[in-house]
Amino acid sequence: MVRSHSRKRVCSLLGMFSMSIAGFVFATQASSEVLYKVHFKASNSDERSEVARYVHPDYMDETTAYSIVREVDLRATLRGIPQRILKIEPMSVWTPDLGALSGDIRFPKKDAAYHTPMQVVKELTRLAALLPEQSELLSLGKTAEGNDILGIRLAGDLSSSDTNSLMILGTHHAREHISTEVPLLFVKHVAEDLNPQERTAFLKGKDIYIFPILNVDGVNYDLEGGKYKYWRKSRRDLGGEFGVDLNRNYSVHWQTGGNSTSKGSDVYRGPSPFSEPETQAVKAFVEEHTNIKSMISFHSFSEVILYPWGGLKQDPPEQDRGTFESLAKDMAKFNGYGYGSAAKVMYVASGETCDWAYKDHQIFCFTIELSPKSALEGGFYPGPEIIKPTFEKNLGAIKILAERTMGL
Ligand SMILES: [Zn+2]
Repeated sequence: MVRSHSRKRVCSLLGMFSMSIAGFVFATQASSEVLYKVHFKASNSDERSEVARYVHPDYMDETTAYSIVREVDLRATLRGIPQRILKIEPMSVWTPDLGALSGDIRFPKKDAAYHTPMQVVKELTRLAALLPEQSELLSLGKTAEGNDILGIRLAGDLSSSDTNSLMILGTHHAREHISTEVPLLFVKHVAEDLNPQERTAFLKGKDIYIFPILNVDGVNYDLEGGKYKYWRKSRRDLGGEFGVDLNRNYSVHWQTGGNSTSKGSDVYRGPSPFSEPETQAVKAFVEEHTNIKSMISFHSFSEVILYPWGGLKQDPPEQDRGTFESLAKDMAKFNGYGYGSAAKVMYVASGETCDWAYKDHQIFCFTIELSPKSALEGGFYPGPEIIKPTFEKNLGAIKILAERTMGL
C-alpha cells in the first residue's frame, strides 16, 4: 500500500543537544540547516539597520523586524545585538528523506542556474520558512529509490480543506528541466516578489499545491557524472532495464497508443496502470484532496497548452469543452502558446496525467509544454537564458488559472 502523502513538520526542538547564549536557552539538531524565526525590536530605519548588520530583516511591521536565520547566524546575532531580540522561535523544519540524492549531483557548469533535486528541497524549505502562515511543506510520497517528492502548499487559509484548489506538477520527464524551474520560481515569486499585502490579496480564497519535480530519481540520474543523458523515464529497476515513462502510466486510455510495452523503450508504459510509486503518489494525493479542481502538468518543449484527450483523437465532452477552451485561451493570453486537445494538436499519447485527472476526478487539467518551441532552439537543454523569459510568460498563465479555479 502506498501512503498518499505525509505532512511532516518535525520541530527542531526534538533535537540532540541544547545550548544557552545570552540568556536564551534552546535545543537544536546538530545541523546548520536548522532555522529560527527571530523577532527584533526595531521600529525605525536606524534600528532595522542595526539588525541588518547581522541578519537580513526578511519582513517587518511598525515595531518589529523578523528574520529567518540559520543556527550559525543566530549565534553571531545573539552575541552582537542581544538587546534587540524579543523572541526566538524554532521553525518547523522539514527533514525530507533524501534517499539516493547527493550534494555531488550538479548541473553542468553552464547550466548551474537550474536546480538539482537537492537544491529544490533546500529552496522550498527556505521559502516555506518565509511564509509560516501561508505555506506548508509536504511530501507527495516516495520515489522508487526512496526519495521524498517534495512540494509546498500555498494557501490563504491553511486550515481550510474545501477551498477550490490548483495542483501544479513539474518534471514527469527527467530531461525536461525547465519544467522544474517554472513551478519553483512561481513559489519564489509568491514568497519573495510579492509584498505582504499583494501576497495576502493573491492567496485570498486560493489553495495551491506545487510539486516541482515528480521524477526525482530520473532527474538525479540525468545529471549524474556531470553529463546529460537525455533521460526521460523514472529509474525503477525492472531487472536489467530501468524506468517507466511516468506520463504513460496513468489509468485512463492506458493502452490506446503512443506508448510501448518494451521495458527498454523511452515510452515504456509500465506493467499496469499506476504500477509506479510516483504515479501512485499523485493518484492517492488527488483522491484525498477532493477540492482539487484544476491542474497544470509542466513539460517541455513545444510551447503549447494541451487538454484532453491525449489518448483519443477527440475533443473533451461537450459539457466541458467550452471551459477547457476558455481556460486555455486565458492562459495563452499570457504565454502566447497555441492550445487544443492533446492528441489533435500533438500526437496520441495514452496513459497521460490529464486524461486521468479529468475523467476520474473532473479536474480541468492542462499539460503545458514549455519553451523552447523546437529542437533547433535547444530542445531539452536550451541553456539558462531561457529560464527567466519562460517563467515570466507562464507566471501570468498560472495566476489566471489560479484565479479562475475559484469559480470552477
Ligand atoms: Zn514531458
